[in-house]
Amino acid sequence: MTTTRLVEVAARLSAAAEELALATAALINIVDATQTEEKPVADQLWLSSAQASKRSHRTASTVSHAAVNGLLHGHQAVPGGRWVFHADAIDAWLRGHDATRQREACGCDG
Ligand SMILES: [Zn+2]
Repeated sequence: MTTTRLVEVAARLSAAAEELALATAALINIVDATQTEEKPVADQLWLSSAQASKRSHRTASTVSHAAVNGLLHGHQAVPGGRWVFHADAIDAWLRGHDATRQREACGCDG
């Protein structure tokens, strides 16, 4: 390979690397945009244990224990299943309201 040819190849590789960097950046932007489309926890009505933990700034373990012990009003599809919490019930719990007031905040009859 001649020096001229080597310089040519190097220039092409450099251009390709630049294109790849641009494409990667564009892809990262798309992924970021997709992720930010998901509603923040603060805007969601029904929360999983992990989301309830985020909203309440309590550990997931504290949230689970409170739910199991009836201190935090939540819903399970089946006994031992995943908990789902109404955001307003979480807030009532944080305010120290009892189970009755948490149920009222939840808006259910259960
Ligand atoms: Zn409820």
